[in-house]
Amino acid sequence: MRRILIVEDEETGKQLLERFMNPYGDVDSVEDGEKAVAAFESAWKDASPYQLILLDIMIPKMDGQEVLRWIRNYEREQGIAPMQRAKIVMTTALDDPSNIMESFYNGGADSYVVKPIELEKLQQELQNLGF
Ligand SMILES: [Mg+2]
Repeated sequence: MRRILIVEDEETGKQLLERFMNPYGDVDSVEDGEKAVAAFESAWKDASPYQLILLDIMIPKMDGQEVLRWIRNYEREQGIAPMQRAKIVMTTALDDPSNIMESFYNGGADSYVVKPIELEKLQQELQNLGF
């Protein structure tokens, strides 16, 4: 079973994503950056890593950019093969080019969707990533 992590601090948006992602795999969700990195790390320690992470940029404790960098750094340090690395889709309420550019060019995100999320657009992005 594919594992999916949703990181979203807004309850309504989180529930929407949970329902939408449910058919794609085994879905967990957390609402802040610290819980996100803890969930990511413990999944690897249990040898059942997340294949897909939907990562909100504006979240408490560590923002999405920090979480993204933390995850990519962890994968590098652990020597995780590129094919086994999590696909990370950034989600942002801001139509915020600088955050999006930062995620892509420096952070190693695979994709992004702008909120409010259009499910068709998300579905298309997931398909592009092989889900
Ligand atoms: Mg948010």
